[in-house]
Amino acid sequence: MLSNVADGLHVMTGAVNSLIVEGPDDTAVLVDTGSDADAGKRIRRALEELGRTPTAIVNTHSHADHCGGNAYLVKRFPELEVLAPEIEANIIRAPYLEPVYLFHGASPPRELLSKWLMAPASPVHREIAAGDHEIGGVALTLIDLRGHAHRQLAVRVGEFLFAADGVFGEGTLERYPLPFAQDVGAQLKSFEVIEASASEGVKRLLPGHGDVTEDIGQVVERNRLAVERAVEVVEDACRSTTTEEVLARVAAELGLAMDDLPRYHLNLCTVSAYLSHLRSEGRVEVGLEAGRLTWSRPT
Ligand SMILES: [Zn+2]
Repeated sequence: MLSNVADGLHVMTGAVNSLIVEGPDDTAVLVDTGSDADAGKRIRRALEELGRTPTAIVNTHSHADHCGGNAYLVKRFPELEVLAPEIEANIIRAPYLEPVYLFHGASPPRELLSKWLMAPASPVHREIAAGDHEIGGVALTLIDLRGHAHRQLAVRVGEFLFAADGVFGEGTLERYPLPFAQDVGAQLKSFEVIEASASEGVKRLLPGHGDVTEDIGQVVERNRLAVERAVEVVEDACRSTTTEEVLARVAAELGLAMDDLPRYHLNLCTVSAYLSHLRSEGRVEVGLEAGRLTWSRPT
């Protein structure tokens, strides 16, 4: 669904949100493109409705559900410039890397080669970093919200912040009580960055999954509580426990639905991110015992 959220700013809401920012001379800049060619088609139709031609795509990060519409749009609009943060740019160009990293770097089982975890390949013409930019004639501020992904940029347009997966909406957190993370320490710092943006003029926030909210403090707090709860549960599970056993305990404690390989491996990656975080804080130790990699709390 297309809705106008501010002057010259439109949101395509759905399972994953995308932004259309009006540029000069009937152009537009896109932020994220949804999961697949169908999402790309919906964006193209919205552009037609608005009478706009896109000049650039800004991808907030490389997860397939945020860049899956790129390939379709780049084919339809060959002049499009695609921009993405470092590291993420390489995965957007070679999307097989996403299922590969979720399977310890090895050739992944076919169940991980679905569109949810592997977008069609897309060019990235330019890597971008946090700061003030003029992209396609539009002034955008990019904000570093890494943590959910190794690199992730939020996009601020005036008083509006598209936070990508820097925070999740309430409904998403209810469905997924262990929000996906690749660097939990960075994720916690990103929550502070979002809170600070509210005191620096941001009035409304749109997460990558969820609805526009004016209560930025509340959405951040809800996400922080979810992460802090997961930190406690993971730490408590570390009793000479393998990573897979930690995941099983966390799944039981938080009530995670894990009945397919994609969900299992996404959660295993997230639990690993928590274990790395806890170890970097000296709260858990890693060991090798009889061919088992185990996690324990220091004695
Ligand atoms: Zn994501």
